[in-house]
Amino acid sequence: MLTSKKLKEFARSRECVLGVANIERFDDAPPMMHPASIFPEARSVIAIARRIPRGSLRGIEEGTYWPSYTYFGYHGLLNTWFRPKIAYEIACMIEDHGWEAALNYPGVPQRHPDARDHDIKPVRGQSDVQLQVRIAAYAAGIGEIGWSKVFMTKEFGPRVRLETIITDAELEPDPLMPPGTLCDRCMSCVKDCPSGAIPHIKEGKVVEIEIEGQKIQWGDVDMGKCTLSTHGGDRTVSPFLVKELPNVVWDAKKMDFSEADAYAFCWPLSTGKHHGEYIVEGHAMLQKWGVGGSYILCGARGCIRTCMDHLEKAGRVEQTFRNAPFIKRPRWLLTPEGKKVAST
Ligand code: SF4
Ligand code: SF4
Repeated sequence: MLTSKKLKEFARSRECVLGVANIERFDDAPPMMHPASIFPEARSVIAIARRIPRGSLRGIEEGTYWPSYTYFGYHGLLNTWFRPKIAYEIACMIEDHGWEAALNYPGVPQRHPDARDHDIKPVRGQSDVQLQVRIAAYAAGIGEIGWSKVFMTKEFGPRVRLETIITDAELEPDPLMPPGTLCDRCMSCVKDCPSGAIPHIKEGKVVEIEIEGQKIQWGDVDMGKCTLSTHGGDRTVSPFLVKELPNVVWDAKKMDFSEADAYAFCWPLSTGKHHGEYIVEGHAMLQKWGVGGSYILCGARGCIRTCMDHLEKAGRVEQTFRNAPFIKRPRWLLTPEGKKVAST
């Protein structure tokens, strides 16, 4: 018999965290984000968190080595190979018990610029559905959404990537995590986000949803600014860009782009000589194979690195390291003109 316990044990044997939500927890979800828009017979949504190795962020933290996070902590291999592998295994396990497992690939609702002209016709009232994986993971009880909008678990803090499976199997749901269990609203992520993408709580830019009477909130992150910093359009976190375009100076903090336009702005920069030679070359090879897609410059400076340093110091994360803390030296940041400055 298929049970939540059996699925959890399997996930744990693969060093992943798994939780289950019943479909009723999505009652207030809009059709474009509703699991039943994908699988009308859905009874449960399973969320799985696979960890980002802490050391994949080390090179960026030191300002010396970028590829590791791109490949082992983000899109290059973790998102496209390591994470889906566990979801695939669990889906097969579910289907071996006679239930259907609709795998969900966590995508970005604002589609890649190359796909923006696609005219997707509604078939049954709703097309282009994207399950919001962080909300699904919260509904499945495996953690909470931090103020920075990054999902965090008690095992690994913000160092996780998420996967979801929708199934018609009726499984025992997990309890919701009370908000504030992990994120204490310290606002360190706000301070250390290079482009100012994460609003301070005092600004009142809040997203709020309710599940089973539990109100959960997070900051309304400016995804245009975040995309600039993450994908190579922010000179303060990209020594490559400063070398590539020494005389074209802009300040990502002052740019007002949508997420899609920020992608469109960053994409051509990835073909630049220095980005290309250092980070993207191997990645481009993966893209030719149909995987991968983006390269990472910011390295989640505020929303993962600072946050995990804070949560580890506060004893709010279970996984500990012998050589703590993570942030060991004064941090680096460039000015838009390319001058190196010490940060906090
Ligand atoms: S740094 Fe982490 S714990 Fe602090 S407010 Fe941001 S998300 Fe919450
Ligand atoms: S990835 Fe970078 S720019 Fe985006 S929210 Fe995190 S710290 Fe800010």
